[in-house]
Amino acid sequence: MAKRISRIFLNSMFKCDNYVCHCEKDIKNVAPGQPPKTTLKLYCDINKPLHFSYAPRVGLNLTGIAGGVIEKNILGKLLAIPNGDIDKHIEFFETYGFLLPIQSDEYDSVDADAIIEVVNRIKATLYLMNAIAGQKNYKRILIYTTYLLYMPQIILNLSEVEYSTCSHRFTELIENYNLFVDLSRNQEVFGTGKYSIPDTMVGCNNPIEIEFFNAVRSGADTDLVGSKSIWFKHLFAMYTSLPFEDEKLRTIIDFFYHYQTEIGIFNEIQFGKITYYATPTRDNFTDEMKASLLKIARIVISEEINHNIIGIYPKYETDELAPAWQVNNLIQALYFSIFYMRPGLEIYKECKKPNCKRDKFFLVEATRTNKEYCCVQCSRAAATQRYRNRQLDK
Ligand SMILES: [Zn+2]
Repeated sequence: MAKRISRIFLNSMFKCDNYVCHCEKDIKNVAPGQPPKTTLKLYCDINKPLHFSYAPRVGLNLTGIAGGVIEKNILGKLLAIPNGDIDKHIEFFETYGFLLPIQSDEYDSVDADAIIEVVNRIKATLYLMNAIAGQKNYKRILIYTTYLLYMPQIILNLSEVEYSTCSHRFTELIENYNLFVDLSRNQEVFGTGKYSIPDTMVGCNNPIEIEFFNAVRSGADTDLVGSKSIWFKHLFAMYTSLPFEDEKLRTIIDFFYHYQTEIGIFNEIQFGKITYYATPTRDNFTDEMKASLLKIARIVISEEINHNIIGIYPKYETDELAPAWQVNNLIQALYFSIFYMRPGLEIYKECKKPNCKRDKFFLVEATRTNKEYCCVQCSRAAATQRYRNRQLDK
């Protein structure tokens, strides 16, 4: 049975239909001194259908009805949208259709910040896959793993569907978990002034000073800058008071606890950037921490992909008498393309030509470290530029 399923995976591509989308921007001033709120008003044009199909090694393509490729590498186009630029996001939706089904005769409204976050999560998942392939980039792995785990869930309410981003169990807990174990009659604390935590990262019990425990719980000062932050308090509550959770969650909790007590406590987490309460002590980033970070990056990638492909199911095509996948919308198609990527074998690279207008983010085998440009034209243009620069230097 398992064998048969894997053959379907190898042999078939998947398809997805969509419609051209139109988008208006409503900008509303909500309160004095506050930035205005932007809402996208969207509708689709059912007279302008769009077809997508997935081909191994090329990725997701925009195709004609008969299957001829109109534009290659749609996931690369999504990666190329400048971060946070709502107009460029709108351009993408107007070209390739909206990520989710929308109506044709009435507006669907979507908050601009929310949709940017949804796109950021797709990018972050892909960046993570890239960052763990080949030469590992631990800084990027940390930034995108943390982003995907710490950012609250986004829910888009459309007239036809409700979409929610993946909510990891850690995400729910870091928002809310505030229950501390009662140590008032604890024998170990009474005898030694310490409380031992079974720790998956150090591989044995990790004794915590009771003064530190009490200070974090009550929000008093400690030697650790930022220990009063609400995120750290919740993380500390999880670390000390949820010892028998499943291994995946424990691995995540233990990593963030060690990282933040030994390197620095997170202040703000943005897409592509983490700021700390004090200058982080990066020298303390040990090999054990790196190994643990890789583990949680893998957990996060798989949970993100699984969450977003859950509505896809296999079906048998009547016309072709062949197995196929029912992919319902563009966001599923995008995640399904990531699902089909061969982790560690294929990565998305950014074309080295500044302002590349061709295939800025292209899919390439991870071992081809010498391929730096998306195409011959870009590589030639860059070579000509280098030649000119040399002439000028003479
Ligand atoms: Zn290029």
